[in-house]
Amino acid sequence: MEQELNDFEGFGFSKNILKGVIEAGFKVPSPIQEKAIPVILQGRDVIAQAQTGTGKTAAFGLPAMQMARFTGEVEILVIIPTRELASQVSDELYRLGRYASIQTVAVYGGQSISRQVDLINNRGAQVVTATPGRLLDHLRAGRLKGFNPWIVILDEADEMLDMGFIEDIGSIFEFLPKVRQTLLFSATVPPAIAKLARTILQNPVTIDVTPKTLATPEDIEQRYYVIEEREREEALVRLIDTEAPPKALIFCRTKRETDILSTTMISRGYSAKALHGDMEQFQRNVTMDSFKRGRIDMLIATDVAARGLDITDVSHVFNYHIPFDPESYVHRIGRTGRAGKKGIAITLVTPLEFKELNRIMEFSGAPIVYEEVPTITQARRRHQNLLIGKLTREHINEEAVEIIQRLSEDVDCTQIACKAVSMLLDKQSVAGPNRIGLSSREVERIMHKTARQKSVKRMPTRRKRF
Ligand code: AMP
Repeated sequence: MEQELNDFEGFGFSKNILKGVIEAGFKVPSPIQEKAIPVILQGRDVIAQAQTGTGKTAAFGLPAMQMARFTGEVEILVIIPTRELASQVSDELYRLGRYASIQTVAVYGGQSISRQVDLINNRGAQVVTATPGRLLDHLRAGRLKGFNPWIVILDEADEMLDMGFIEDIGSIFEFLPKVRQTLLFSATVPPAIAKLARTILQNPVTIDVTPKTLATPEDIEQRYYVIEEREREEALVRLIDTEAPPKALIFCRTKRETDILSTTMISRGYSAKALHGDMEQFQRNVTMDSFKRGRIDMLIATDVAARGLDITDVSHVFNYHIPFDPESYVHRIGRTGRAGKKGIAITLVTPLEFKELNRIMEFSGAPIVYEEVPTITQARRRHQNLLIGKLTREHINEEAVEIIQRLSEDVDCTQIACKAVSMLLDKQSVAGPNRIGLSSREVERIMHKTARQKSVKRMPTRRKRF
């Protein structure tokens, strides 16, 4: 099988770290990963402002694990506010680092002390992810042997401040090696966190991926559809069939995805082309020109390739995959609704991508409205209406008259018409199960559940998060 290109290769990770990344399905680094990974690999201290859901665990975890020296001691310590987050982050790091022989242990209150001590002291774990209270308890009691973390990460620092852990953090650092690399991740940096940063970080690099100003144009109608991962392609086809966009821009996350999707769309009878950064400039110009002139109805592009695109009459923007950051979302949808025209922006999301969707809504204040994916019956009806409209308007070609005259000697005219329409229908067939995607009730249930879990694990909290 062809080896798929992966943008994480550029960081210079070992083969085994990359294997974890590929297995996790990461293809393109998120903005925080792009900015933080090279700086961390250089050994610098970092203060990074990034929200949950931005991929920050991998942003600090991958370079930290890449740098592990396998001394037989604990080398990487992640301090994190809640036990749920501790086990979540520990699992994510294990998932990413296991091929590089990384062992992880989560340490939090409410768990057997002797078992935790045994795991840390005798199992050779390189990474410990701990809540402040229990960690300080172990450190004060002198229970930990071989605990020499030289990379220390403070995750969700502002949350720890909210929860009253700031003094414990100060005390924990008194037990930690003086020569170390320290990384502080926080969604916001209130004065108390800035003060803490000054005492525990040395000459840190500041990284901020929090979007500043965002506003989505009013002329764009924004909708989202909730689907399962496997339904992505089918949902797109149905939406295209029902919307019948005269000029659509479809955004994918990777170059490979644009290639695969354009091949699929073409084979299903649509007029589409891919546009990505790996194409020769000449080829890109030809593709953009065909789209501009309406020779193709849809352009399937990556964010980077679409950057220089100047087309005023895009009727629809489809986010085949939701973008990582709100800024990209605003950029993408801003391709439609231009020059006083109305535009439609459609985003496909799976329940796992609610976090990203919520972040976009929170930062852009965008009224993105939920809608159900059209059923096959609805898509067919719409498809028929379009065809009827087209047939009514179509001018009659002289050669067609000649063919019908010859045919009608043997075959009935209604039969000929039915056959001709069948041929047209076959070109663009709507298929699959009648109903796909999640209903509004299912979506509500998932959102409710997530919000409930969140309120349990994140009390007290100041920010509205998903
Ligand atoms: P985090 O902000 O670390 O909680 O990550 C949020 C989610 O994004 C997790 O489920 C990660 O597995 C996933 N994720 C992180 N980085 C990437 C990436 N580069 N590509 C795709 N998914 C990612």
